Amino acid sequence: MSDVSFHKYWQLLSNYLRPQLSKVILLAFFLFANIAFQLINPQFIRAFIDTAKEGGHINTLFWLATAFVVMSLLQHAADTLLSYTGDVVGWNATNQLRSDLFQHCMSLDMSFHNETTPGNLIERIDGDVAELANYFSLFVVQVLGNVIMLMGINAVLFRVDLRLGLSFLIFSVISLAALGWVRNIAVPHHEATREADADLFGSFEEYLGGTEDIRSSGASDYIVNRLQGAMGVRLERNQKAAVVSQIPWWIMIVIWTAGHALAAISGYYLFKADLITIGTVYVIFHYTVLLFRPLNSLVDQLTKLQRATACIKRVESLFARQSSINCYGSKSLPVGPLAVEFNDVSFAYKYDELILKNVTFHLEAGKILGVIGRTGSGKTTLSRLIYRLYEYNSGKVCLGGVEVRDVPATNIRKKVGIVLQEVQLFQASVRENLRLYDHSVSDEQLLYTLEKVALQSWMESLPNGLDTILNSTEGGLSAGQAQLLGLARVFLKNPSLVILDEATSRLDPATESLMERAIDQLLSNATGIIIAHHLATIHRVDQILILDDGKIVEYDDRESLQNNHNSLFSQLLRTHHSRKEPI
Ligand code: ATP
Ligand code: MG
Repeated sequence: MSDVSFHKYWQLLSNYLRPQLSKVILLAFFLFANIAFQLINPQFIRAFIDTAKEGGHINTLFWLATAFVVMSLLQHAADTLLSYTGDVVGWNATNQLRSDLFQHCMSLDMSFHNETTPGNLIERIDGDVAELANYFSLFVVQVLGNVIMLMGINAVLFRVDLRLGLSFLIFSVISLAALGWVRNIAVPHHEATREADADLFGSFEEYLGGTEDIRSSGASDYIVNRLQGAMGVRLERNQKAAVVSQIPWWIMIVIWTAGHALAAISGYYLFKADLITIGTVYVIFHYTVLLFRPLNSLVDQLTKLQRATACIKRVESLFARQSSINCYGSKSLPVGPLAVEFNDVSFAYKYDELILKNVTFHLEAGKILGVIGRTGSGKTTLSRLIYRLYEYNSGKVCLGGVEVRDVPATNIRKKVGIVLQEVQLFQASVRENLRLYDHSVSDEQLLYTLEKVALQSWMESLPNGLDTILNSTEGGLSAGQAQLLGLARVFLKNPSLVILDEATSRLDPATESLMERAIDQLLSNATGIIIAHHLATIHRVDQILILDDGKIVEYDDRESLQNNHNSLFSQLLRTHHSRKEPI
């Protein structure tokens, strides 16, 4: 089975079909009923022709015709029920696989999400899985059914005449061998096609997401050009795959012609030799035509299997991707404010380009650390390591005396509240945007928090209050208001460690000072890390850490740094006060 082992196929199938075993059994029942009707029905026509030719009774002819019609109707009913059950089984299995893949992707670390665009992921989680629907529902049952149908037709032909049966058996074996031989030809082409699809959707997503920047920078033409390039690649690969997939069909047509010639010649000689009736000649032809159904269907299944193989490979490789972050540690964090300790920590996003270099500091529980440094010096990176979005390369990061690697990432995220430079809003109500689908939070708590973060008047202006949908025509937020909303989320979490990454950088001075009181309250029962460009934001911190190019250039208590005239911090304070500029 090409590169994907039989074991993998089986594992995927049994995992997703086991929960709906009763439906699969029903599916098999309809399939076999369908086959049985198809095999029996020609016998009525044979009897009809022979009875008519021998001048049989009209009543017999009537009953034979009625039996034929009833059988045909039953066969179509079985066929319809087969498609329906097949669809239900296929959708159930693929929906489960979709959510499993989605959950897996959500558990992966940020390095994975940086490498992959959301559009690309959508194509992999939905597009690839959609291709597998048929594979789940009908594949095994149909292949099995077709093999049985082939055997049934051959058995009937053997009953007619031994030589006839033997020639059709040899013919079937040769046909299947030829079709089996070509079945893998198109796999690499289908794989390449799906990759081109994923790339194109990735580009669409990126360009649509960045539409404001693209328009304002006048890059639209360039973008359209690049999209056309990606579409060109997609077209070319689709064309190649389509042409190569036709090869099994060309072989099929040759086999079809050979089959009919065989039926014509053998029918003619057997009839001439008076060994069979004219009704039986008809039956030979009918079964030859019928023979092509399983052969056709087998080829069709094999072509689909080629596509499915490509998709299974991609699904498997996505499942095989492991998060570099340990999410299953068994230790837990202590109760109350958390001490933060970085011990000789180094970190690189990629290869060995170190972004943080031997960072060491110790922030006691309940204290507040101010982190300052130039743009790109590694401040946000520092907070990402605490929040377990990335795994550090060397050293040790501890929270409350426990190394973060030993604690499940979800536990850490529950206890650490973070407000980022960019606040992510969801297309959902204000209520869900605030409580993030945690139903234990009451509306009173939400309103109280909104008041605390100075969003009360904004709230009152909304048409549907907490039910107003954000990111839509109903409710929009300025960048500053979004930051306040981010702050409100942290309030609701009641965290033991608060990280504010330039959380007030987009607020006007009046709102910022209003926020100070709220932040003080937030930090009254937590340890705090405040990342800031404006020195005013960190006037109340206990310790100061200055980062430059990933290295600590200064780290001490704020007061002692302030009183030391040679310290970088006091120099910064002096220039800042004289020029009134952010650092
Ligand atoms: P700013 O003040 O602008 O917010 P910062 O101090 O927070 O800057 P970081 O965001 O920590 O800076 O980035 C530090 C360095 O890491 C930068 O040089 C940046 O190019 C690099 N970097 C940040 N995020 C990634 C990422 N996802 N992948 C690769 N490199 C990254
Ligand atoms: Mg930053």
